[in-house]
Amino acid sequence: MRVMGVQPHILLVTFPAQGHINPALQFAKRLVAMGAHVTFATSMGAKRRMSKSGTYPKGLYFAAFDDGSEHGFRPGDDIEHYFSELRLVGSKSIADLICQVPKNGGPFTCVVYSNLIPWVAKVARQHNLPSTLLWNQSPALLDIFYHYFNGYGDTIKKNISDPSFSLKLPGLPPLGRRDLPSFLDPRNTHSFALSVNKEHIEVLDEETNPKVLVNTFDALECEALNSIGKFKLVGVGPLIPSAYLDGKDPTDTSFGGDLFQDSKDYIEWLDSKPESSVIYISFGSISIVSKPQKEEMARALLDTGRPFLWVIRTDGGEEKEEDKLSCTEELEKQGKIVPWCSQVVVLSHPSIGCFVTHCGWNSTFESLASGVPVVAFPQWTDQLTNAKMVEAVWETGVRVGANKDGIVEGEEIEKCLELVMGGGERGKEMRKNAKKWKELARESSREGGSSYRNLQDFSNEIGGGAM
Ligand code: UDP
Repeated sequence: MRVMGVQPHILLVTFPAQGHINPALQFAKRLVAMGAHVTFATSMGAKRRMSKSGTYPKGLYFAAFDDGSEHGFRPGDDIEHYFSELRLVGSKSIADLICQVPKNGGPFTCVVYSNLIPWVAKVARQHNLPSTLLWNQSPALLDIFYHYFNGYGDTIKKNISDPSFSLKLPGLPPLGRRDLPSFLDPRNTHSFALSVNKEHIEVLDEETNPKVLVNTFDALECEALNSIGKFKLVGVGPLIPSAYLDGKDPTDTSFGGDLFQDSKDYIEWLDSKPESSVIYISFGSISIVSKPQKEEMARALLDTGRPFLWVIRTDGGEEKEEDKLSCTEELEKQGKIVPWCSQVVVLSHPSIGCFVTHCGWNSTFESLASGVPVVAFPQWTDQLTNAKMVEAVWETGVRVGANKDGIVEGEEIEKCLELVMGGGERGKEMRKNAKKWKELARESSREGGSSYRNLQDFSNEIGGGAM
């Protein structure tokens, strides 16, 4: 896709959710450092909410597209409705963006788009622009969806309710029904999830030598990156701020696009805690945790007696009276509850000893890149597969088990926390593995490392210079 003699200018289109905005911003900063100009575009609502707190390099610009909604996608929204509006209104709005000559950086020479918006590639084609998918989930997810639509769909649909079902796909460990993305189970599916991923694969199938940039690194997921022979998946991650990775830019300490208000008052508190002593708990930017489940979590935390930092989002509003936990006072004596924090800052703090995570891909990957072992607490979508990899492949954590009502009880959470943080052999092994992945993540990003080279190749392909 080399465009000769023209200043490369990428239109980087991202789905308006935190888990897409963060890695895309980091990708943009890296490409700018390699000589490209990047216009980062997300929905108007998300752009309004973005904190813009980071340090942005010269050559990175911002734009917005209309997604048919006033606020952008928010937790609890009607997903099916949102997706149909986004596609309808968004494609026209992105076409308009492409046609206008941007104020900065010259005309666009290529488009990069994140997951969940495969139709952006079609808009780019209509305007004769090459496009590339920046896949911000694990490559295993793209593999699973590819194989689902290429031969394995009927087997999965027929057997997924069988507790003993185990599926062997090329390049992936055997996956049981609780390890497969929730959307493959006809009882839990959302039609948008299957149709969007089907369209991603169709769009790639229509390209000659399709290449996908993936937020991972070779040493972590070499086999998963090679599971689909006809698509070239290349690892360009971890897409996290440089200060926590290669250290090349020590001022790059945050993604710089938070959609939620960061309270910041937890740093001093963390500073006062001993090394590896604090439990950090967060369920990401979208999952909504039920009140009974939060009560069980609170019970487990009080029973461990360990200090903790717990993110309980209020999604912009005040916490409602009926949502208040029964033991808030006791909790506040032992730990800290915040509505949002800078997760990369927290994970790199020496006081953090364990991360209780919903296993969204960014959280999973950020914990690996920071060397923090985890208690995997998946809820839905790809989180189930990520939890499987954490426990069975990378061996950096344990996964909780739920009771018959789908609640993870306090005793179970406490048992998992003690396994990860306690003095037993398995805990020691998990902590050692976590450190090993952190080192390998750094290696991949340093000059000459696999992700560094893959990014440089992409930069060269689009006509940018090498650093
Ligand atoms: N995050 C954060 N502060 C929080 C919770 C999350 O900065 O209190 C960031 C986190 O670092 C990650 C993103 O939000 O980059 C969440 O993405 P992930 O894929 O883990 O989960 P999702 O929100 O998509 O479910």
